[in-house]
Amino acid sequence: MFVSVLVVGSLALDSIETPFGSAKDALGGSAMYISAAASYFVSPIRLVGVVGGDFPKAGISFLENRDVDLDGLQVISDGKTFRWSGRYHYDLNIRDTLSTELNVFEKFDPKIPENFRKSRSVCLGNIDPVLQLRVLDQMENPRLVICDTMNYWIERKNKELKETLKRINVLILNDSEARLLSREPNLIKGARVIRAMGPSVVIIKKGEHGALLCTETLVFSAPAYPMENIFDPTGAGDAFAGGFVGWLARTDDMSEENLKRAVVYGSTLASFCVEKFSVDGLRDLTYLQIQDRVREFRELSRFEED
Ligand code: AMP
Repeated sequence: MFVSVLVVGSLALDSIETPFGSAKDALGGSAMYISAAASYFVSPIRLVGVVGGDFPKAGISFLENRDVDLDGLQVISDGKTFRWSGRYHYDLNIRDTLSTELNVFEKFDPKIPENFRKSRSVCLGNIDPVLQLRVLDQMENPRLVICDTMNYWIERKNKELKETLKRINVLILNDSEARLLSREPNLIKGARVIRAMGPSVVIIKKGEHGALLCTETLVFSAPAYPMENIFDPTGAGDAFAGGFVGWLARTDDMSEENLKRAVVYGSTLASFCVEKFSVDGLRDLTYLQIQDRVREFRELSRFEED
C-alpha cells in the first residue's frame, strides 16, 4: 500500500494582487496546499517544513484540522517565514512573481522524523532541489516519489534539479516550465526529453486548458473544470499535486487508467482551490463534493461516436 504520504514544501505568507483585489500575508506555500488537498484521500499526511516565529496560529490549526501530522515541522522562533508575492494579469493564467524572500528556508535542513522515513509515497513540493534531494536521502525505499518544481529553480539550480529528477517517478510542472526545462517548444516532445532525465511519468499543467499526462506509451489530455468564478489562482498547481498523490496513495495502483483518474482528482482539487481565497477552498470539502465534481469532469469530454 502507498497509504502514508510524506509532504515537504514551503509554508508561506503570500501577498497577492489580482485585477479584482489584493491581500497581504495570506496563508500559502506548496506544502500547505499539497497537504490540504491530499488529506481528503489519506490520513494522516506527514508534513516536513519550516516556519518562523511570525507564522500565524491559524496556519497551524488549519493543518491540524486537516489531520496533518506536524512532527516534522520546524519552528524557528527568531526567524521570518518564507514570503512570496505575485501579481496576476487580467488573464489569470499569467502571473508575475514580484518577490521571493526565502527567510527561514535559506538555512533549512529538512530532518525527517524516524517514524516518517518509511512513508511509501513522497510528494516533494516546490522548494530548492538541494533540499528535495536531502529529503530523499533520508527516506527508506519510498515506492512513489512525486516532484513539483518551478521556473525559479529551473533557472537557478538546474544542475541540482537534474540530480533530483534522476530519483523521482513523477514530475509535475506547467507548460512554460516544461519548455524551459526541456528546451523544446513542443510539449509532447518536451515531455519525452524530460522523461529521459528520470521520471517515467511527466504531467504538464496548462492552467485553464487542463493537463497532459505523458508516459512511455500514453498521452492523456484532461480538461480543466470550466470555472466562471476564479477568486485566487494561487496554489492551484499544488492542490493538483496533492489530489494526484492522494488518489494514488489511497488506491495503490499505478496502472495507466488509474494515473488518468489521479489527474482528474488533481484537477478537481485545483478547481476547488481557486474558487476561494488562499487555502480557504480546501478547508472543509466533503468526499461527496469531490466525487460529484469528478463525475462532472467525465461528462465534460465524453461524446458518442455516432
Ligand atoms: P502555485 O500557484 O501552485 O504555483 O503555488 C503557489 C505557492 O507556491 C505560493 O503559496 C507560494 O508561497 C509558493 N512559492 C512560490 N515561489 C516559491 C519558491 N521559489 N519556493 C517555494 N515555494 C514557492
